[in-house]
Amino acid sequence: MGIVAPRGTFDIMPDDAGLWQFVEGLVRETFEKCGYREIRTPMFEHTELFERGVGSTTDIVEKEMYTFKDRGGRLITLRPEGTAPAVRAFVEHGLASRALPAKLYYMGPMFRYERPQAGRYRQFHQFGMEVMGAAGPEADAEVIAVPLEIFRAMGIQDVVVNLNSIGCPSCKPAYRQRLQEAYAPVLGRLCPSCKSRYDRNPLRLLDCKSEECRAALPEPPTIFGQLCPECSAHFDGLRRLLDKLGVGYVINPRLVRGLDYYTKTTFEYNVGGIGSQDAIGGGGRYDGLVEECGGPPTPGVGVACGMERCVLAAQANAADQEYQAGMDVFIVSLGEAARERAFELAHGMRREGLAVDFDMIGRGLKAQMRYADKMRARFVAILGDDELATGEATVKDMSTGEQTRIAQAELAACVRRQ
Ligand SMILES: [Zn+2]
Ligand SMILES: [Zn+2]
Repeated sequence: MGIVAPRGTFDIMPDDAGLWQFVEGLVRETFEKCGYREIRTPMFEHTELFERGVGSTTDIVEKEMYTFKDRGGRLITLRPEGTAPAVRAFVEHGLASRALPAKLYYMGPMFRYERPQAGRYRQFHQFGMEVMGAAGPEADAEVIAVPLEIFRAMGIQDVVVNLNSIGCPSCKPAYRQRLQEAYAPVLGRLCPSCKSRYDRNPLRLLDCKSEECRAALPEPPTIFGQLCPECSAHFDGLRRLLDKLGVGYVINPRLVRGLDYYTKTTFEYNVGGIGSQDAIGGGGRYDGLVEECGGPPTPGVGVACGMERCVLAAQANAADQEYQAGMDVFIVSLGEAARERAFELAHGMRREGLAVDFDMIGRGLKAQMRYADKMRARFVAILGDDELATGEATVKDMSTGEQTRIAQAELAACVRRQ
C-alpha cells in the first residue's frame, strides 16, 4: 500500500461532497438570514493567541494543540477553535470602532491532537458564530437559538440545551474560593489534572469526567446563591427569552466548558438526554476576551458546533436524496470529428449557463449512454456522421425516452425549454 492519510484525518470524496455542500449551504443561508457575515481567518496562528485566548489550564492548550516552530523560529499552532482567531481579527482590524455589534460566522477545519475514535478526528470541521459588542441576554439567547434552527433543518432530534452561569469577575472569585473549600478535604482522591487545576482554575474540577473525581464530591456547591445581582438578572433574562421561543433547556451547574475565558453564560447542546457525552456544540459569553487580546473592553458571546455530526444526521434523514446536481446535457459523439464538435458545442452551451459534459476518451455508444445515465443527464445529444453532415443532433429525453432530431444551434434553447 502507498501513502495513506494521517491518523485522525479523512477525505471527503466526490460521492460525499454534495452532502457536505448541502450542509455548508444550509449553515451559510441560516447565518446570513440572521444578519451574520462570514469571517475567514488563517488555519494557523501564533501559539500565544490560544494560550491567552483559550486559556492555559484548558485541555486544548495543555494537551491537544498542533504546535510547531516554523522555519523562521516562530511558535505556530494549527487553529484548535474559531473564537480566539475571530477575536484577534476583530481587534487587529479595528472592528470595535465600526457599527456594533459585530456579528460574525465561520466554518472550516479545526485541529486537535486527540485520540481518534468514532466520530472524533484530529482534523474536524466546525461552524460557529460570534457576537461582539452586545452585553444583554438577547445576544446569548440568539447564539443559543440560531444553531438550533440548523439542527432542526438537518433533522437532528431531541437536542437538549444544557445551561449554566459561571459568574463574572465580581462574583466568580467568591465561588472559586467556596469550591476550593469544598474540595479541600477530598483533594487527595482527585485525578492528577484536577489536583493541578485546584489552585489555578478550580471551576474545571466540576466538569472532570473521571469517576473518582465525580465520586469524591458528588454534589459540589453551585454558583446560584452567589451570583451578583447583574449576573443573576442576566441569567433570568436569558431564561425568559429562551422560554419565549419554547427552547427546552436544563440547568447544569457542572457545565463550565473547557475554555478559561467564559463569563456568565455557558451552554452545550446534547443529543440523547441530560449530561450525555454526546455534545454536538456549545459556547458561552466571553466579556473579558477582547480586552485580553489587546482590544477595548467589549462584551462577546459565541457558539461552535461540529459539522461532522450534522453531515451524518443529514445523511441518515435523507439517505436516498441526491445532493449532487445532475447534468443538463451529455453529448455522445461517435468518431473523432464528432468528438471535436462535441467539445466545441459543450463549451458553447456551458457559456450559456447549462451543465454540459461530453466524452473525452472515445468510448462506444453504449458506454457513453451508461455514463450519461450515471451523471443523471436530463438529455443526451448524439452526434454521428449523419448528424455532422446535416448540422443536427439527435436529442434523447432521458426521462421519457423520446427522441427528436434538431439543429445543433437549437440545442441549448431546446434543453432550456423543458
Ligand atoms: Zn457577577
Ligand atoms: Zn479529575
